[in-house]
Amino acid sequence: MTDSTERTALVTGASNGIGRAIAATLAVEGVRVHICGRDSVTVKQTVAELRAEGLEISGQACDVTRPDQVTALVNDCVARYGPVDILVNNAGQPGGGITADIDNALWYATIDTNLNGVFLMTKAVLNEGRMRERASGRVINIASVWGKQGTIGGAPYAAAKHGVVGFTRCLALELAKSGITVNAVCPGYVETPMSVNVRACQAGIWQVDEEEALRRLASDIPIGRYSEPEEVAGMVSYLASPKAASVTGQALNVCGGFGVY
Ligand code: NDP
Repeated sequence: MTDSTERTALVTGASNGIGRAIAATLAVEGVRVHICGRDSVTVKQTVAELRAEGLEISGQACDVTRPDQVTALVNDCVARYGPVDILVNNAGQPGGGITADIDNALWYATIDTNLNGVFLMTKAVLNEGRMRERASGRVINIASVWGKQGTIGGAPYAAAKHGVVGFTRCLALELAKSGITVNAVCPGYVETPMSVNVRACQAGIWQVDEEEALRRLASDIPIGRYSEPEEVAGMVSYLASPKAASVTGQALNVCGGFGVY
């Protein structure tokens, strides 16, 4: 891995939440970061805000489920900053319900964004992003503790995230001799716009207000609170660093003790 000032990262779903914290953390370390999200206005606003902090960040709209947009994103990133050294597959969406009642469209959309998007983006970065032709690289997939254990009402999301963990383990072995490491980061509950929405749904199911839902959810977390996006970003920063060169094929929790393995 080259000096951090020469590294380029592509972070998906970085207009908000965990992805934004990852982009900012890597950029503070001197990495040039290209980001995406589906909504171009939010992407532009995020890029402007982070650039105003003096960070080298650019970005564009891209839906990770669309192969044409994925290829365009990677090509534009390479044209701007050169080959991709670090890919962070962070874009994701929630998806759950009582399995027998789940709308087919919700199932397909959840798998498409959380799992198919990871495959499409990784393949594009290995090829158009030119990671495959180089002697080093990092692929870091943001999975979930629900990628390693089950939860009632979470079948589509957990199935997709288990898929991400399986994909991570296979690709890590495939690329083990190449200098490219492949790992998953598995957050528990993290305070972001997604978790606010999930909490509102849970409050509805429990028929309590959102404050009570937060209290109940947090009481299940051994440290007694949600993780911060920056704490997930800290793990990504480590995995992206030269110090993590022998860490590959792992699924590492950032969950306040919530994950059981
Ligand atoms: P947010 O909903 O806060 O942010 C999601 C980001 O992804 C946004 O920038 C959104 O932008 C983008 N995005 C969503 N769908 C797509 C798509 N199809 N193509 C491109 N970008 C997309 O989520 P979080 O920050 O909470 O979650 C980030 C990751 O962490 C996800 O993979 C999630 O599953 C995982 N995670 C989160 C946890 C939590 O408690 N928050 C816990 C465990 C895992 P736009 O809508 O404009 O596309």
